[in-house]
Amino acid sequence: MTDKMNAVRFHGNKDIRLDQIPIPTIKPGHVKLAPKFCGICGSDLHEYLGGPNIIPSKDAHPITGETLPLTLGHEFSGVVEEVGEGVTTVKAGDRVCVQPIIYDGSCRACKRGLVNCCDQNGFVGLSGWGGGLCEHIVVPESCVKSLPDNISLEVGALIEPLAVGWHAVDISPYKEGDSVLVLGGGPIGLAVVQVLVGKKCNNIIVSEVSGRRREFAKNFGAHHVIDPTKVDVVAEVERLTGGEGADVGFDAAGVQPAVDTALQAIKARGTLVNIAVWEKRATLAMNDIVFRERAYMGIATYSLGDFEAVIKAISTGAMKPEGMITKKIKLDRVAEEGFKALIEDKENQVKILVDVGAGI
Ligand SMILES: [Zn+2]
Repeated sequence: MTDKMNAVRFHGNKDIRLDQIPIPTIKPGHVKLAPKFCGICGSDLHEYLGGPNIIPSKDAHPITGETLPLTLGHEFSGVVEEVGEGVTTVKAGDRVCVQPIIYDGSCRACKRGLVNCCDQNGFVGLSGWGGGLCEHIVVPESCVKSLPDNISLEVGALIEPLAVGWHAVDISPYKEGDSVLVLGGGPIGLAVVQVLVGKKCNNIIVSEVSGRRREFAKNFGAHHVIDPTKVDVVAEVERLTGGEGADVGFDAAGVQPAVDTALQAIKARGTLVNIAVWEKRATLAMNDIVFRERAYMGIATYSLGDFEAVIKAISTGAMKPEGMITKKIKLDRVAEEGFKALIEDKENQVKILVDVGAGI
């Protein structure tokens, strides 16, 4: 038994490596687990292509005290290997997924329970404490969520992106009977579609440039899909909503033309919810907001209770996300077959999972 393990670590812009690093040891209140499946996320890709952005490079993260090179992977499932003193919610052998938010618990946002808005927030797999792309990890008990028997470890790795969609719908003004416009049909846009389907939304319109992704949106239950490069989105949404406009819009695209059209496609006093992380400043047509009394709101990842809600929705069959997995690769192929495929074969990929449990 060696005391080293394989870990995929971010060293800098377009530089991720399979490294041999020490196996972390258990401590009180923590859980040691063996990651099994780990998704590659759009934010990992942003770090790879244009980073480091979130990943601490010069100054150490204020909570983890770590700086790059850091182990990647924040969308993952695993099996518990060992629990530290005082841990009561899981035991060795349990199948789990990890809620990766790192927060201080003491700032003004945390005191209100808004840990995802923490002044010092970070993520396992981006800010330290290891990540899903390694063979062993030790995280606080509060990060670990048990998976029911009818949820596979593959699907367990999808709960994190689905929780983003869940949280967005949950804190938006969406209510049953509303018409919804979703901008972008990537993993997060598709997560929003699935959550809306689970909540019995009967008019989901998805605007997405990629034909394959429009097909995915249809398969996951979108009622209408629009190609914004061919169709006037504002006129089409008006037609599909009986002339009213959409009640709520969810922006999972994060590009200027999407915001411009969305603000006009939403009805008076409707709301546009931004989920996207922007690479640069956007311009808002303020008078489209003012003269129709529209609202524009941001959402950030997920909050307490969202993972549990998604696990329940999958377990009861209200959401069936397996179809999001378009490819599985091994730990030593992350750069070549994971990141590069998501860049070069974006059209055909939704979620690439790394089969960490298969070894290298
Ligand atoms: Zn805080």
